[in-house]
Amino acid sequence: MNTKAKWISAPVADSKAAFTFSKNIAVTKQIKKATIKVSAMGIYVLNVNGARIGNGVLTPGWTSYKHRIQYQVYDVTQSMQEENHIQISVGQGWAVGCIGYKNQNHFSADKTSAIAEISLIYCDGTKEVVVTDESWQVFTSKVTFSEIYHGETQDLTYPIICLGAAEETFVKTKLVAQRGEWITEHERLAPIEIIKTPKGETVLDFGQNMTGYVELKIKADRGSRVVLHHAEVLDSLGNFYTENFRTARNENTYICSGGHDVFKPLYSFQGFRYVRLTEYPLKQVNPDDFRAVAVYSDIKRTGHFVCGNDKINQLYHNVIWGQKSNYLDIPTDCPQRDERLGWLGDAQAFCRTGAINYDVEAFFDKWLEDVALEQLANGAVKGVVPCAVKDDDSRISAAWGDAVCIIPWELYCAYGNKRLLKKNFPVMKKWVDYVHGAGAEEYLWLGGVHYGDWLAMDAGEDSFVGATSNDLIASAFFAHSVKLLIKAGEVLGINMEEYKILHENVRKAFRDYFMENGLPKAELPYTEELLTNASAVDTVRKGMTQTAIVLILYFELCDTSERGKLAKKLVELMAQNDNLMSTGFVGTPYLLHVLSDNGYADVAYRLLFEERNPSWLYSVNHGATTMWEHWNGIKEDGTFWSTDMNSFNHYAYGAVFDWIFGVACGVKPMETNPAYKEVTISPIPHKALGFVDSSIKTRHGTIKVKWYYIGEQVRYEFEIPLGVTAHITLPSGYKTMISAGVYHF
Ligand code: BGC
Repeated sequence: MNTKAKWISAPVADSKAAFTFSKNIAVTKQIKKATIKVSAMGIYVLNVNGARIGNGVLTPGWTSYKHRIQYQVYDVTQSMQEENHIQISVGQGWAVGCIGYKNQNHFSADKTSAIAEISLIYCDGTKEVVVTDESWQVFTSKVTFSEIYHGETQDLTYPIICLGAAEETFVKTKLVAQRGEWITEHERLAPIEIIKTPKGETVLDFGQNMTGYVELKIKADRGSRVVLHHAEVLDSLGNFYTENFRTARNENTYICSGGHDVFKPLYSFQGFRYVRLTEYPLKQVNPDDFRAVAVYSDIKRTGHFVCGNDKINQLYHNVIWGQKSNYLDIPTDCPQRDERLGWLGDAQAFCRTGAINYDVEAFFDKWLEDVALEQLANGAVKGVVPCAVKDDDSRISAAWGDAVCIIPWELYCAYGNKRLLKKNFPVMKKWVDYVHGAGAEEYLWLGGVHYGDWLAMDAGEDSFVGATSNDLIASAFFAHSVKLLIKAGEVLGINMEEYKILHENVRKAFRDYFMENGLPKAELPYTEELLTNASAVDTVRKGMTQTAIVLILYFELCDTSERGKLAKKLVELMAQNDNLMSTGFVGTPYLLHVLSDNGYADVAYRLLFEERNPSWLYSVNHGATTMWEHWNGIKEDGTFWSTDMNSFNHYAYGAVFDWIFGVACGVKPMETNPAYKEVTISPIPHKALGFVDSSIKTRHGTIKVKWYYIGEQVRYEFEIPLGVTAHITLPSGYKTMISAGVYHF
C-alpha cells in the first residue's frame, strides 16, 4: 500500500483491551466508488455506519509481521451516506498478544495500531482520499480483554468513551495486499447434547472437534455474566478436561446488556468440541441459543472419498476436519493449546493429502513467501514460521526445514504452477546449500538438534522422540531435498549437474555411514547435543528401525537389488513389534507407500485396518472426530498420554490419505506432466474397504475412480476429463492408456 496513511494507536500504555479508531466523513457529492484499505498490528474489525464490513474474520491474518503485513480492500460504495462513521476496532491478535510456546507478549509490536486509506471516487470524476492520522479519535470498546490463547471478554455495559486523538506510532513492516485465502466462517453446528457431568457442570457437546468459536444469543439481566470454557475431550469419568491446553485459558466472558445480545469473539478463536457453561445466568439452557462456528481459510474442497468401511470413512472425516481446523491462514500444528504455530514438519507431512482434499495453492503460496522471508542468510530455516519464539529456541531441524523443498514440489505436482516453483527455487537451493555445510561431514548431516521421528513409539512410551538416529533422518532428508531441488531445477530449465554430483555423493556417504549389507546398521553413534530436559529414552538412537528403512526405501537411498531385502526386513521388524508400526511424524507419511511399492500392499492394508495402539483406527475407536497428535492420546485405560503434547487436533498422521487416494483408489499425478494432466491409475482394491468412490477436482477437470466387488470380482469405473491422459494398470497386470470418457473394467 503506497499511502500517506499513518499507523495510529491509542494514547494508552499496555492494555489487553481492544480500542476503536474512529473518523467521521461527510460526503457532499454523489459517490461512484468508495473503497477502504485497512490493516492492523493486531486483529481488526471494520465498521461503516454501524455495520460490520466484509465476511473476513481475524483480519489481517498472520504473516511474518517484521517483514510484511497484509491489508484488505473493501468496496464500501453501498455503505456510504452523507455523514459517515468509520470505525476500526483492534484487538491484540498474533502481533501484540501472547504467542509462542513460551507465552511471549508483544512479539511483533508493543501495542495495537491500525492503518487505513479511504478512497472516494465521485461521479463528477473527482477523487478524495482520507487516511489514518492524528485527526482520528480513539474510543474504548466493549472488548475489555482479548488474547488468541486465552479468549475474550466482552462487556456490553462498559462505557464507550473517547480517549482522545490517535497517536502516530512507528511500525516497521511492509504493507502487502491480501495474499492467501481470506479467513472466514464456515459450518455452524448446533449442540448435539447438553451434558451434566459427574462434577455437576453443564457442558454442551457440539459433536465435532473444530476450530472457531461459539456464537451465543442471550437475553438476560443487564450486567449478568456468561463464562464459557472450551475442551476437546471429556476425561474417562465424563468430566470436562482442559489440561492438554497447557497455559491457554480458552475462556470467553460476556457481560449482558439487558437486551437481546449476540456474542462471539472478535479477536480470538478456540479449538474445541465441548463448551462448559462455567457461569450462565439463565435457568434453562436452550441449545438453539448456541452455535459452534467453524473458522478457517476459505479453501475450496477438491477431493472426495467414501468407501464401504465405516471406520475408514470416519477416519477421512477426521482428516478433513483436521485440515479445516489447522489451515487457518497458515498451516498450524494445532488450534487449541498455547501453540497454534506454523510448524514446518507437520505442514510438509500433510501437504500432499492437503492438496488432494482442497485447493491449497494460494494458501501455501502466501505462507511459503513468509518462510522465504524468514530464511536465514546462511540458508537455514527454523521449525516455525511465522517465527514466534523470541530467544531463537526454534530448532533448525531436518524434516522440518526440508519443508521448503518438499512443499513447493508437492504443489508443483498437484497444480503444475512453474511460477510458484521458480519463486521457491532459490529458497530450496539455499536450504540444500545450508545442509551441505551443516554437518561435521561434507555429505552427511551429523549432529545438530533435531525433532527426530517426533512422537514415534519406539523409544519408549513417554518419549517425545522416536528411536531412529537423528543423524540418519537428517542425512536421508538431505539426500531427498537435493533430489527435489534437482527435479525442480530441471523443470525450470536450470543446469543441475553440480547438484546431481552432490546427490551421488550424499547417497554414497549415506550408504557407507549408515548401511551395511544393504540394511541400516543396528547401532549408530550418538552425536547430538543433548537437550537439557532429555530423558534416558531421548538418548536412544538406532539405525535398524521401521522409520529408517522407510526413509531408505522412499528416498531411494538403496540400490534396486536391495529393495526386496529392505522391505522384508521392515515387515520383520513389524512382526517383532506385534505386527504394529512404530513410526512417528517422519516415517508414518511414507510407511504405507513403501510397503505397497515393494510388494507388501497386504501389510499396508493390515496397518490401515489395525485397531490396536498405535494405529489410525485406534483414535477412531476412541471417538475421535479429528486426527490426534499422539497415537494413543487417550490410553486404553481411559487416562491421557501426557498433558504436554496431547492435542486432539493435529493433522500430521492424516497424511495416510495420500496413500488411500494414490494407492487404494490409485490416482497419482505424473511428475513429468503435472497437475493431473497425465496420471497413473493403479488401484489396489481390498475386500475390507468394500468399495471406493473417489474424485479429485484438478486443474484439468474432475477425475473419478470407483471400484467395487461383485462376489470375488472387482469392477472398476474411471471417469477422465477432457485433455487428461490416464495410464491404467489393474492388479491383474492389464495395462491400457485412456483419455476423456467413462470406462468400465
Ligand atoms: C508441535 C508439533 C511440532 C513439534 C516439533 C510440537 O510442540 O505441536 O506438531 O512439529 O513441536 O517437534
